[in-house]
Parts: sequence; C-alpha cells; structure tokens
Amino acid sequence: MTTSTPTKKQIRLQNKWNKLEFQTDSRSAWINGTLVTLSEPVRKVGWQWAMDATDFDKTIEPAVRPQEFLKGAGVRTVVLDPGHGGNDKGASSPRNVQEKLVVLDIAKRVKQILKSRGIRVELTRESDRALDLGDRCRKAAALKADVFVSIHANATANRSVRGTETFVLSLPGRYSSNSYGSGNPPSSVYNGNHYDIANMALGFCIHRSLIKTTGQEDRGVKRARFQVLRDAPCPAALVETAFLSNAKDEAMVIDPAGRDRLARGIADGISTYLANVKRAKK
Ligand SMILES: [Zn+2]
Repeated sequence: MTTSTPTKKQIRLQNKWNKLEFQTDSRSAWINGTLVTLSEPVRKVGWQWAMDATDFDKTIEPAVRPQEFLKGAGVRTVVLDPGHGGNDKGASSPRNVQEKLVVLDIAKRVKQILKSRGIRVELTRESDRALDLGDRCRKAAALKADVFVSIHANATANRSVRGTETFVLSLPGRYSSNSYGSGNPPSSVYNGNHYDIANMALGFCIHRSLIKTTGQEDRGVKRARFQVLRDAPCPAALVETAFLSNAKDEAMVIDPAGRDRLARGIADGISTYLANVKRAKK
C-alpha cells in the first residue's frame, strides 16, 4: 500500500483494492470509508506511527479480507434478537416512540427480506413480551444459530446526537469503545470471544451496509461487553439503529419506509457476511 498524509493528523494507506485512513493519536480509523474504533490509538513509536498488533489482526484484517478467515463459520441459520419487550420498553422518544416496538418491526422486516433469499431466520421474540438477556442467547444456541444480530435503538440526553453504531464484543484485555482508560481492561475471555474475527467481519458488513442504505450518520463499529455479545453462541453483533432522542432519527423510524431502509441495510449486511463465509469455504 502507498502511504500519504493528507493532513498532519491523518495517515492514509491505499492500494488498488482498499483504503485505510487513521487519525493520529486517536482510535478512529476508516476502512474503505467506514468508521471503526480501534482498541488502542495509533501512536508514534520512535520516528514511526504504530498500531496495536491485536487491532490489526482482529479489527483491520477481518474487515478488509473477511473471506480469508471465515472457513469455520456457519451459514445455515440467522437469529435476530429484537431488544427489550413487555415491561421493558427500552429507549423512548419525546413523542413516546418505543424502542421495543420499533426494533420488533425492523427485525420482522429483516426476516422477510432474508427469507425471500432462501435463508433460515428465527427471532428470539415474535411479539411484545419480556425476554431475559440470558434466554436470548440460550434460544439462539437451541436454534443452532450461525449468526446472531441484536437490534436496538438508542436515546441520549443530548438531542443533537444521532446516527447508527454497531457493536461487537470487546477483545480480552482490551478496552471497550466507551470506557477507554478507566481502570485496567478486563482480561476475561467470554464465549463470544471464540468468534472475535467473525464478530468483526459480521459487524463491519452490517454497519457498512446500514450506512450505505440509510445515509445515517456513521458513528462507527464499536466494541462493548454487552451480555448478549458475551454469551452469544456464534458470531454476533448488536446494532443501535438510530437515536430516538433525535428528531431526524425519530422521523426515520416513525416512517415505515425508514424502517424498511434500516431493515434492508441489516439484511444486506448479513447477506454480504454469509457470501464471505461461502467464499472462504471454497
Ligand atoms: Zn436497547
């Protein structure tokens, strides 16, 4: 790859196929234009800029060349997990648009699209009912899930914050995206960490497709130790589709066409991931 520095705080690596952009002294990186959060900042070591080797192996590589690493992954069953339900409403908007209902609707749309492509899809819940976090993963295991995607919507006090972010499980011994530098990062290896490479490949495919399909603000592929990601029995990602607390995002999820675009983005991302797995097996 050829290296250039478009600005003082930017490093760009590019070849015929891929473009990697890094912000110096920061964890933000753009892989072919899609934002990912690294576990450690790109830092100056001596005279050279350097990145954490684990970030290269577990974040950059699976996003850039997923077909090289997915030989052992499955393609038969996709389990979609609409967040919350029943008494647990999840986030809500100023106009009382409820996360639990929005994400169920989106999940059903994703199921329809994938089913029309001949893919077996199951939901952890088909109706507005409460479901324990542990039960969601146990259900995915019982269904022999090959892909697990949890679907959520966000809300925050700052109403100007909007966009889409996609989470995959934090790496053992590395910080989560939203808790950098606080204490030592946990070194625990969870069940979900058996799929670190596939998690990233899946999360990246879904996120990239979602941003392309919806035109949503790109808040990046991030890492967290959410329970459904820790306990997942297969490669897994958790999508925060939009911020219900933001007027523009709220308008999108109120509109059936907006929910359809979100569903199409998720479905296309899952399809791309499955195509990469199939290519890896050839
Ligand atoms: Zn949620």
